[in-house]
Amino acid sequence: MRLLLVEDTDDLAQTVLRFLRAEGHAVDHAGDAATATEAMAVAEYACVILDLGLPDGSGLEVLRARRRAGDRTPVLIATARDQISDRIAGLDAGADDYVVKPFDLRELSARIRAHARRGQGVPETRLVLGTLEVDRAAARLWKQGREIRLTAREWALFDALLGARGRVLSKSALEEVLGSFDALIEGNAVEVYVSRLRAKLGAGTIQTRRGLGYILP
Ligand code: CA
Repeated sequence: MRLLLVEDTDDLAQTVLRFLRAEGHAVDHAGDAATATEAMAVAEYACVILDLGLPDGSGLEVLRARRRAGDRTPVLIATARDQISDRIAGLDAGADDYVVKPFDLRELSARIRAHARRGQGVPETRLVLGTLEVDRAAARLWKQGREIRLTAREWALFDALLGARGRVLSKSALEEVLGSFDALIEGNAVEVYVSRLRAKLGAGTIQTRRGLGYILP
């Protein structure tokens, strides 16, 4: 899933980024309110993790502005334990949920998955696609009953296609998914990962729409 982490405390941000990327998510990072507002306006995220105390303003203002603009992206606010009034204000401003700092990374991840699924209107975590069975919450999949192991990047690409299934995703949208791993993205990275996924999952799993992109039918 493509996620946005808004957090100005750098070591906390790096810890969360490492954890979520290792789980196969494509995570962007914003360290201030202005960057967060711009990122949310430009990109489509499955879920945003929003710190409230930011160097150039409050996360609450970011949230209110985006909700006023009609943005319904699931937002999880992260607050300190003693900031009960902030939590209430956050929920009133349109947040979907909150986590209390210091939070358990596995709990954060579970909440992200729950809200992201709801945001996509895909409440089920296990689904069947032809001969494949997928557990999105656990980031696992099976082909004819045998588990197939995917790397974090392969999973990120597959999960993006899964979230959009039935819709074509452009090559540049998929490049963004791969790009947020902070790796150097070569011009043909999407083709490389798509062909690896086809080798693992079956040739017909991901279809190419020439000139448009890729689709999980
Ligand atoms: Ca902060």
